[in-house]
Amino acid sequence: MKNFGFQRKESAFCCNLFFTILSLVLMVGGLLTGCGQNNAPSALAADTASQNTSATSESYSMELFAMDTVMTLTAYGDSAQAAIEVSAAEIQRLEQLFSTNLEDSDIARLNQDKQAQLPDEAISVLQKAVQLYQDTNGAFDITLYPIIKAWGFTTENYRIPTSEELQQFLQHTGIDCITLDVDIGMVQLTDAQTEIDLGGIVKGYASDRVIQQMASYGVQSAVISLGGNVQTLGTKPDGSLWRVGIQDPDAPDECIGVVETANQAVITSGPYQRYFIGEDGTRYHHIIDPQKGVPAESGLSSVTIVSDSGILADGLSTALFVMGAERALQYWQQRRADFDTILITNDRQIIITAGLADCFQSEYDYYVFGE
Ligand code: ADP
Ligand code: MG
Repeated sequence: MKNFGFQRKESAFCCNLFFTILSLVLMVGGLLTGCGQNNAPSALAADTASQNTSATSESYSMELFAMDTVMTLTAYGDSAQAAIEVSAAEIQRLEQLFSTNLEDSDIARLNQDKQAQLPDEAISVLQKAVQLYQDTNGAFDITLYPIIKAWGFTTENYRIPTSEELQQFLQHTGIDCITLDVDIGMVQLTDAQTEIDLGGIVKGYASDRVIQQMASYGVQSAVISLGGNVQTLGTKPDGSLWRVGIQDPDAPDECIGVVETANQAVITSGPYQRYFIGEDGTRYHHIIDPQKGVPAESGLSSVTIVSDSGILADGLSTALFVMGAERALQYWQQRRADFDTILITNDRQIIITAGLADCFQSEYDYYVFGE
């Protein structure tokens, strides 16, 4: 591997200690199973019911299915139940606004009509998406929706589009195809073939909103997982840090490391989260390289972002995956105040950025970048 200026950390863990720790963590990245499930706080234990609640004297938790994924909300304290009920309604409200797969959502209507008057909130999320496109040099691009549909990721009727088809689609992508008039709340898709999809940021935005709702109800301690996207409010009720497990991309039921955190989002993107296997055995996943219209092959198998902002963490987990390790680390150097990252390469090198040096643990050796 190219040397980016790493500090190498030898694992300080013996296996038993590591697995004891794993038994206490929450898991990022899609599944609340494996190492995260058995001994996770009851709030995060997987449940087969589509909506389920449980309460103890100090905590209240709810599991729900929304935005095409399982979500678990847990809060502690007297107002926990009220805060969670309001949060669940908030998630449903956001789904109605942003989900492309609900035919009458605001974004679905925009895709159909090519213009829409949208509430301030939707305009500000779109502004954030445009800003991410500009900041990441187009690695984060919400105009890929027709390509995502062509691969079958929206219906699970998977197929491999021809390169002619993809070239055709790529003529209608890019942020220039969107015009935002912030003052009057008007959005236009200036190219008749353009359609947008906020799947790369909507769960992160929803987790920001849920944490804000909980705080406004006076909750001081909460943890939520929206399909594996974890965000925390405060510390655990006993004052200790939350421990968030990072999925092993080669064995998603297991953890490759643990991040200790408070008041932050920990969000992972990886090719193992949604994919299909072609006839030749190739894996085709759902994070698209906007230059080529094909699943991004950047040498990474997982990108985790740790940030105060859920929407930023969600968008950047997708964007840095597209960029690959070298560009991702350069990008972090310019924005190190805003986030930290854990990159796992296809050959299982683990690279963390300097802000995580004191709060990341792994049974494997890892590199610290930027100390
Ligand atoms: P997930 O939503 O499964 O947690 P991500 O946050 O990485 O995973 O988002 C992937 C989703 O974002 C895809 O399913 C698709 O809707 C959309 N997407 C795919 N590639 C890109 C990209 N390069 N830029 C922005 N959005 C993307
Ligand atoms: Mg994302």
